[in-house]
Amino acid sequence: MNINTLKVSESRSNQVDASNIQFGKTYSDHMLVAEYENGEWKQPEIVPYENISMSPATTFIHYGQSIFEGIKAYKNEAGEVSIFRPHDNWKRFNISAERMAMPDVPEDIFINGMKALIELDKDWVPTSEGCSLYIRPFMFATDEFIGVKPAEKFKFMIITSPAGAYYNKPTKIYVQNKYVRAFPGGIGFTKAAGNYGASMLPTLETRKLGYDQILWTDGVDHKYVQEIGTMNVFFVLGDKVITPDLSGGCILAGVTRDSAIKLLKEHGYTVEERPLTIDEIRDSFYKNELMEAFGTGTAAVIAPISELYYDGLTMNLPPVENWKIANWLKNELAGIRYGRIEDRHHWMFKVC
Ligand SMILES: *Cc1c(COP(=O)(O)O)cnc(C)c1O
Repeated sequence: MNINTLKVSESRSNQVDASNIQFGKTYSDHMLVAEYENGEWKQPEIVPYENISMSPATTFIHYGQSIFEGIKAYKNEAGEVSIFRPHDNWKRFNISAERMAMPDVPEDIFINGMKALIELDKDWVPTSEGCSLYIRPFMFATDEFIGVKPAEKFKFMIITSPAGAYYNKPTKIYVQNKYVRAFPGGIGFTKAAGNYGASMLPTLETRKLGYDQILWTDGVDHKYVQEIGTMNVFFVLGDKVITPDLSGGCILAGVTRDSAIKLLKEHGYTVEERPLTIDEIRDSFYKNELMEAFGTGTAAVIAPISELYYDGLTMNLPPVENWKIANWLKNELAGIRYGRIEDRHHWMFKVC
């Protein structure tokens, strides 16, 4: 595929202070844009990062046909740039697209477009350990029509932003049993904008109570744990690693979750993907068997949980320094990403 590219006359990459990268505040020099109209994608273009202009009647603003992905590119010690499992994000993007009545984005645009964009902006991929280039592909409906109907015009874009080392201060989690994130038949399994819009009020209320994030429970019984914000969740109960299974369509199939399961199993740990109730977690806590709990996601990678609040009970976890599993997993994933540990699963997609 041949992508028309309009380059910036001067890169802004040297303006980034590598020792103090503020995530999501700075965007790289270029962005990818592709338009869908009359049932087909037009040729994508790479252009300088800039504002986009649109009609106030643009449908996604009103009716929310809007989806996204989150991916990271890493630079190894030899200076080579690779993206972590982008084909898995591409497949998940199209699962989200299908549920939201949006067109499939072909590999040529999503993967090859991303590769061309990252190659052009390779100087934006930070070099120090723990840093990466965050890649944000997204698509939204662009019909200029305020009647409610499935849209026919769409825009797909990719922007990128350097991300510094994520400091994983252990998080305090509030187990939510009033508000609901997802329910069977809904859109919980998609990375659709509306899922996040609906979570903002519960998040604000949770912060006021002194907790960092919400652990969502199921919308029917408020009993089965689902996931946290933009992370999947793992519990180590006794010597078993347990994570909620994906059946039921309420939980996002995280690429980090899948990587964690594969690495842990390969290393000989018992990993169970199954329905997990908050009562089982509480019982384990009373038996001193709640050993570790952590979130997994592209942004934070592994986020240890120090405290879980549920219905009047505060469950404190053992000190994170003493955890075996999460700390091993974090190191293993970083090793693969920065090229220190062999990439046995071929997860790193080389750009340049
Ligand atoms: C993005 C996201 C995750 C994590 O998925 P990764 O592919 O590991 O980044 C988990 N849950 C939700 C709701 C998310 O939006």
